[in-house]
Amino acid sequence: SVKVNDMCYMWSADDNLADKGEYGGAVTTLMKYILENGIVDAVLAVEKGADLYDAVPILINDPNDIEKSAGSLHCGTLNISKVVEKYLDGLKDIKIAVTCKPCDAMTLRELIKKGRVQEDNLLMIGVNCGGTMPPVQTRMMIEQVYEMDPDEVVKEEIAKGKLIIETENDEKEIPIDTLEEDGLGRRPNCQRCEVNIPQMADMALGNWGVIGPLAGKATFVEVFSAKGADILDKAISAGVVKTQEPVPKGIEIREKINQSMVNLANKAKDAAYGDLEGDILAIFNEFSDEFSRCMKCFGCREACPICYCPDCILESGPDWITKGLIPAAPLFHLGRAVHMADSCTNCGQCEDVCPSEIPVAQFWDAINNRIKAIYGYVHGIEDNSVLSPLSEYPDKGLRD
Ligand code: FAD
Ligand code: SF4
Repeated sequence: SVKVNDMCYMWSADDNLADKGEYGGAVTTLMKYILENGIVDAVLAVEKGADLYDAVPILINDPNDIEKSAGSLHCGTLNISKVVEKYLDGLKDIKIAVTCKPCDAMTLRELIKKGRVQEDNLLMIGVNCGGTMPPVQTRMMIEQVYEMDPDEVVKEEIAKGKLIIETENDEKEIPIDTLEEDGLGRRPNCQRCEVNIPQMADMALGNWGVIGPLAGKATFVEVFSAKGADILDKAISAGVVKTQEPVPKGIEIREKINQSMVNLANKAKDAAYGDLEGDILAIFNEFSDEFSRCMKCFGCREACPICYCPDCILESGPDWITKGLIPAAPLFHLGRAVHMADSCTNCGQCEDVCPSEIPVAQFWDAINNRIKAIYGYVHGIEDNSVLSPLSEYPDKGLRD
């Protein structure tokens, strides 16, 4: 039977799903099995919207619709944890399985600790992630740098340090370093992310480490929880997925790629805020030029999956945030710090939406790293018994 920490290669026993899936369709097949057998009420996944660059969350309750969600959308910069917390009411009345990237899984863990998501009603099928790309910029990059028609692209993937863009008749690749030196490629927060394998999910699936005849046709699975082991056990016994022992060299390669991505992320962190010193206020002062463009649209707060007070005290109280001041008063951001900085998972949603193009995620990531250094608290990773430092803050009632 399957146990925690087990690893295997896995692919779908259904030829159609194996073909539609990114690397053998194991995720899609597991989701279908779980739904068909009433283990969950619905599956939350991602489907292609208007084009390949548009990823849309989809809640599926008919197993026949599952195949719509097959495949990996590398411009899928969605806020899946917010969908779970806000639009599915923290899973009070619905049991779901969700496909999640590491930042989604880490944020869900933080929300579970804060009592905002019911863990018993959640199964996290993690997918490894080496980073996502901003949709609009990626379309432009394909047109101008790759000199290809973005609407003709059938596949985009990062492999062996290159971003490969494929159409039906053409394929071009450019080293990801070269693109990122020019401000293209992955989102800045993804460049700084050192969690590529979502070990805080119930299991993680990814293509790294699948070598030999199964390369490209199967996915590498690692099990992280008893819940995950139980589901895999059932799906394997039912014959819906096929498995094979991973090749030892494959396990080694997976670890090596992961380590080189962690090294790259550490370099990016160093470049972004390695020389910043001092407390939160000192770091805020370093970003004061950037924040002087803040127009208090509250977009970053709306997008933040951790910032969830139903009524924001900074808007509903007295006139905390004086309007019409340039540069704007810093209270809004410092107020937010008290509520979310320790749990910030560098998901990048705040920066994605900021109309003033302030590197908001970089700022919060810098603050979070300082909190990590002081309290030893690692967001999204610690088990549920270890509360984030600010959970003990006296105003925590504001969150309830
Ligand atoms: P499928 O059966 O095709 O199922 C894929 C699932 O992923 C579906 O449920 C789909 O809805 C969901 N999905 C698609 N796009 C997103 C998205 N943007 N956010 C959340 N869920 C999504 N593996 C590695 O080993 N190394 C990597 O660097 C790596 N980078 C990835 C980056 C992204 C953005 C994504 C989405 C996946 C990445 N993977 C990576 C995982 C890999 O691409 C496959 O998802 C995995 O191997 C499972 O293959 P499969 O055929 O079983 O998946
Ligand atoms: Fe300010 Fe940008 Fe946040 Fe809007 S999204 S409140 S402009 S930092």
